Amino acid sequence: MRYRRFVNVLSVTSECFPLVKTGGLADVTGALPLALQALGVDCRVLLPAYPGVGEQLVASRATTTISDLFGGAATLVEGTTTTGLTVILVAAPHLFERAGGGPYVGPDGHDWPDNHLRFAALSWVAAAIATGRLPVGADGSWRPDVVHLHDWQAALTAAYLNFDHTAGAPPTLLTIHNLAFQGLFPQGLLSSLRLPAAALAVGGIGHWESLSFLKAGGRWCDAVSTVSPTYAREILTTEHGMGFDGVLNERRGGLLGIVNGIDLETWNPATDSHIAARYAVSNVAAGKAANKAALRAEVGLQPDSAAPLFCVISRLTEQKGLDLLLATLPRLLAAGAQLLVLGTGDGKLEDGFRRAATDHPGRVAAVIGYDEDLSHRVQAGADAIIVPSRFEPCGLTQLCGLRYGTLPLVAKVGGLADTVVDSTTRSLRAKTATGFQFTPVDAEHLAVALGRACDLFASPARWQRVIRTAMTTDVGWSTPAAEYLALYERLLSR
Ligand code: ADP
Repeated sequence: MRYRRFVNVLSVTSECFPLVKTGGLADVTGALPLALQALGVDCRVLLPAYPGVGEQLVASRATTTISDLFGGAATLVEGTTTTGLTVILVAAPHLFERAGGGPYVGPDGHDWPDNHLRFAALSWVAAAIATGRLPVGADGSWRPDVVHLHDWQAALTAAYLNFDHTAGAPPTLLTIHNLAFQGLFPQGLLSSLRLPAAALAVGGIGHWESLSFLKAGGRWCDAVSTVSPTYAREILTTEHGMGFDGVLNERRGGLLGIVNGIDLETWNPATDSHIAARYAVSNVAAGKAANKAALRAEVGLQPDSAAPLFCVISRLTEQKGLDLLLATLPRLLAAGAQLLVLGTGDGKLEDGFRRAATDHPGRVAAVIGYDEDLSHRVQAGADAIIVPSRFEPCGLTQLCGLRYGTLPLVAKVGGLADTVVDSTTRSLRAKTATGFQFTPVDAEHLAVALGRACDLFASPARWQRVIRTAMTTDVGWSTPAAEYLALYERLLSR
């Protein structure tokens, strides 16, 4: 399907795979534009030039200069990634070129103290490109028809456009990838953001005693979406709305939930160069057995053909519910299973999993760190992936799990509820089961689900049947990209 006319989209984000990634946001902003390109959309990604990012671009060139971007000079650098994305980098050394740390935190693990300026700058540039004040494109004439903002780091764009009053500014869409991150700063910083006092008036970006970047998107974007239908419903409630349910409920046109996909080339067990043995549905049993043996050897787990190998690939935070897994670990081990955790984050959880690995050598392994290549080998070698999140806007690791025949065992929340079919007598008979769900999200119900998974694993023919359904589930980007395109079309026709 091609769009009836060429649509230009500016996708504004603070991270983008393969250039810079701290989590699922980068996967989405790296893959969705490629899927949109296949539908005839000219989607360009606007991103800060963190250290090492510019060097990864192919055929890059500096185009536009900005004499003062929140305290220093900046340049726009345009180029493409090895994956085929068209990218516009905001090269502002005073804001983004810093040794150590990452996109959001410094080497001390704390937020960069000027994050408000760093992401106001990104948003200000987005608004200036949207209104044509900053020329981009080969001859400087490229203009977006739609501006797609991702999360709070890009959301202030809507405020600049709202107070700019330039005629003909393109419509805007905010996608909320995680409502827990709201871009909250002291209200006293408003003037440093180049916004008028009116921005804090009733109906503005004031949020209790703070100001919120995300709220700018909630207030002034033409449409707001999030990354699964269930999460879209959840965040309209007081219980899960994190103080934003009011703003979101006020929106005319509602809140759309579009489930993320994964990049089917990056995540393909039939071609994956990171894994020990490549496989497809037709030879999945042998393929997974070979990958499991290699993975166990790599991380120091015992060979044990009767033991299901459960894995976790995750940020170790309160959201992800991994304290519940620590609480259920004795029961998991008593059932004869093994556990491999790849993750980093909260010190207490890191210590907890490290200690579990020391206490149960050969049965529990913990790799504390962030390792993209290893995450592929874990997906290929494990039998099941546990995602016990307290809330989960969409979740990507369960989608990779489906693709690799690593059955997801998930909390029934947000996108996890939308993407995994629980193994019940009925779904097993109907051959629609793809994994396991549990609710409510507590250690007891997690333990029950783990028990059900161990039981099914002990019945290899039935386990393989579920694997086949999981691996043939559509987890790619073509359907979600078509939904985004339909949304852009609606915005353009208003
Ligand atoms: P979130 O964005 O909330 O962290 P998602 O499930 O949406 O969670 O996306 C997480 C992404 O980050 C996935 O691509 C996952 O494979 C990856 N990931 C998370 N932790 C690690 C890790 N320690 N090592 C490698 N990849 C990781």
